Amino acid sequence: MGPPGAGKGTQGALLARRHGIPRYATGDILREARRENTVLGREAQRYMDAGELVPDDVILGMMREKLSSDEAADGFLLDGFPRTVAQAEGLDALLEDLGQELDAVLSLEVADEEIVRRLSSRRVCAECGRVAPAGAESHESCQECGGALKRRADDEPQTVRRRLEVYREETAPVLAWYERSETPVRTVKGGGSVEEVQARIIGAIAA
Ligand SMILES: [Zn+2]
Repeated sequence: MGPPGAGKGTQGALLARRHGIPRYATGDILREARRENTVLGREAQRYMDAGELVPDDVILGMMREKLSSDEAADGFLLDGFPRTVAQAEGLDALLEDLGQELDAVLSLEVADEEIVRRLSSRRVCAECGRVAPAGAESHESCQECGGALKRRADDEPQTVRRRLEVYREETAPVLAWYERSETPVRTVKGGGSVEEVQARIIGAIAA
């Protein structure tokens, strides 16, 4: 778990690769289900077409398909999920059903102002959607396809602050819920280089 811009995706990908396990993020699973036109994918699409949030039971249905698949038999990493207490409760019931349990909840912590700085300096290619790598934020065009690099509207400082508020309102109760559960919650400082943060995460899991 961690706010937008904390580096969850990067760190999660490294950690999943280290353990040879799949990484599941809600957004990726939704996109995949829609692309593959599954029953749940079509259901999710109907909500999105109506401008509504995809309900938890649809998301949890997609998670069930993933967590009960062969690739997840030796473990899995959940990236940014669950995001609400209702999702945490649903996941708990799902894991019990599957005879699985979480080893730990990792909470990646980064100061708000650092996140505002990180996200507002981020540039995304208007053509291919790639995020410009660190050091290339000042370039005018994408190194991959030559498209224009722009700041996403979501990454404007004021919008980032609002996203952080929403995140904290949603997530503080989820962390509190896990604090009361038997799953250990480990807090990791998300500042510094990718390698430094990954080393802290590995240490926190081993602790
Ligand atoms: Zn591009």
